[in-house]
Amino acid sequence: MKILEKILEYIFLPACGVCGKLGEGYLCKNCERELERYSLVRANKCENIDNSLDIKRKVVIKGVEGTRIFKLHVFKYENVIRNLILDYKFNDKSYLYKTFCEFIVKNKKIVEFIKSYDIIIPVPMFKTKIRKRGYNQSELMAKEIAKNVGIKVYTDVLIKIKDNKVQSSLNKQDREENTKNVYDLANSEKMYNKRILIFDDIYTTGNTVEACKKELVKAKPSKIGILTLAKD
Ligand SMILES: [Zn+2]
Repeated sequence: MKILEKILEYIFLPACGVCGKLGEGYLCKNCERELERYSLVRANKCENIDNSLDIKRKVVIKGVEGTRIFKLHVFKYENVIRNLILDYKFNDKSYLYKTFCEFIVKNKKIVEFIKSYDIIIPVPMFKTKIRKRGYNQSELMAKEIAKNVGIKVYTDVLIKIKDNKVQSSLNKQDREENTKNVYDLANSEKMYNKRILIFDDIYTTGNTVEACKKELVKAKPSKIGILTLAKD
């Protein structure tokens, strides 16, 4: 009986993605406090998000054709956050998207930011890379965020057409070149006059999201924002 209970518990109770504790959702209270230490978005401040992005430094930049770009990074990419994201991407811990999302949807300020968009678009991966890894980590998260916050997620509008090198394997000078002409648009009419939010896991030099943005502005959205899980 005990074994059966354990099995049922294992099947039906979500476990904390960080420590494995059962019964407190995908992120237990202890681990939530730990992750909070690396949060770049303090939930207790309530100024208008769009005017105070990145929270610590105001990162509101002018994009192509005058489209204003708003950025929000959830975490600083260090220590436990760095390890979790590396596990998520490279050590087959795909279930961690639930844990990250749970953290995000509990933060009213981040949710408010996401809700100021109509559509979230994950940075796409090249098809052979998805096949190899089994999932696109940004897509898994974007879908979960969209479901929880109540906005749309489009995975058929921004396409990766070239299998370029992994950004983290390159020095900063080569990263910009590496992201040129690797993305293309499809079904662009779906984004016309819409507020779109690009989602990526790690923000380092910003070349990847900038390259995505460059394509997406061609669809003439009314606003483009950038949301990343962590800033390096
Ligand atoms: Zn935990």
